[in-house]
Amino acid sequence: MESSVFDLLIKNASVVLSTGILEGHSVGIKDKKIVAVKRDSEISQNSKRVINAEGLHLFPGMIDPHCHLGSGDSRSYEYMEESFKKDTQDCLLGGVTTIATTTVLSPDSLDESYRKTVKVATGNSHTNFKITCVVTQDHHADQIKAAYNEGCTSFKFYTGYCGCLAEKMGMGVDGIPPALFYKCVEEAVALPTKPLMMIHAEEPTVRFMLADRFKEANKESLIDWAEHSPEWSESVQVYQYGVIAKQFNLPLYIVHISKAHTINFIRTLQNDGYPIVAETCVGFLSTTAHDLVAKGVGIYAKIQPPIRYKSDQEVLWKAIREGIVTAIGTDSIPYTSKYKDGQKFWDARPGLNIQTPDSMSLLLNEGYHQDRITLPDLVKVTSELPARHFGIAARKGAIKEGLDADLVLVDLNKEITLGIHRYKGHNNYSLWEGKKAKGAVVKTIVGGEVVVENDEIVSPALGQHLGVL
Ligand SMILES: [Zn+2]
Repeated sequence: MESSVFDLLIKNASVVLSTGILEGHSVGIKDKKIVAVKRDSEISQNSKRVINAEGLHLFPGMIDPHCHLGSGDSRSYEYMEESFKKDTQDCLLGGVTTIATTTVLSPDSLDESYRKTVKVATGNSHTNFKITCVVTQDHHADQIKAAYNEGCTSFKFYTGYCGCLAEKMGMGVDGIPPALFYKCVEEAVALPTKPLMMIHAEEPTVRFMLADRFKEANKESLIDWAEHSPEWSESVQVYQYGVIAKQFNLPLYIVHISKAHTINFIRTLQNDGYPIVAETCVGFLSTTAHDLVAKGVGIYAKIQPPIRYKSDQEVLWKAIREGIVTAIGTDSIPYTSKYKDGQKFWDARPGLNIQTPDSMSLLLNEGYHQDRITLPDLVKVTSELPARHFGIAARKGAIKEGLDADLVLVDLNKEITLGIHRYKGHNNYSLWEGKKAKGAVVKTIVGGEVVVENDEIVSPALGQHLGVL
């Protein structure tokens, strides 16, 4: 039918699905959707634009489930708006076309926070966006439903903090007591679809005691930083909040898992029917405390939880292959080096700047090219499963007829040098400065429009809000 002329046709691609790779295939796009995935010889329609993808792999756009736009150097909606404008460009460079990002830490009602975030993101975000409401106060438990009605399907709890640090983040001195989490879960199970309850699991009291002790002893390397958070610190909270999630059969999503102990513990809980969803981060999969000490990165890599050891890293990769870890995020925060430069090690804020521009290259270099992951498994854990966790699989997460045309063309063998020269947003330092990586994004496509070409952003902000689908 002549009316079925494509808006964009990507020819001769190796199309990466979670079930395998389709060689010599074409993907036709019309009205922002994928409308054909066929052998090159089976495509007869014309197209307004054609991209010859010979030698390239076509991935679904990556979904980064864990970002914090609007935090970092300052915490405000003005800063968040700037971050949506600039930092989401870095997402596109790294192959990320959808993010889930948290609301600003605030005593506002959850639904109000959600509306404010949608307002500053709309028209400014280069990526599609889900918004995760951050629960900090008791009254927030009463607003779970109102937030859901605005479109919120994920709620974040900073369980890993107490004392004055918790107070600085707008929580009470006890952080997130299990009773507050319990009340939120009671509200969440009553919703028409089950939202994700996300926790930063990392027992705080022993950690803070050890931090004081190490500070006193002038122990201030990234190894000390790793050691101050005991290897069981994530596991103990996975269990504490996990039993509540299990009672209500609501998925408990553990962000940024860094430790082998946690993985081994989650394996047991998942086998026992605990509804636990595990995420790790690109950084943990790509470097170790010892690597960073050798490079002299120091305070700039002081993140929470800490980057740990080679033995942890191998267990994290294995957990992806085994299907225990089913999401990879970055925990990106739009920090500049302002909160690191010249600071004392233990006094400087933990946190890592925007990591998304390097996501695809790092995962290919450290994962695929080191035989730690196959391309179909990479698609599963960076697109397909995150889309399912966040309830957007009807539109995102795979290359399939009927889904949104969010795509990434990748050259598996292109070598690039990572570093701040590539970045468009707030980043003015990089953990990966000067690192050579094999595997690079050639083009990024959002809603059928080419948005990245030759490492440049070639489109205005096209990102759309994704609410309850
Ligand atoms: Zn985070």
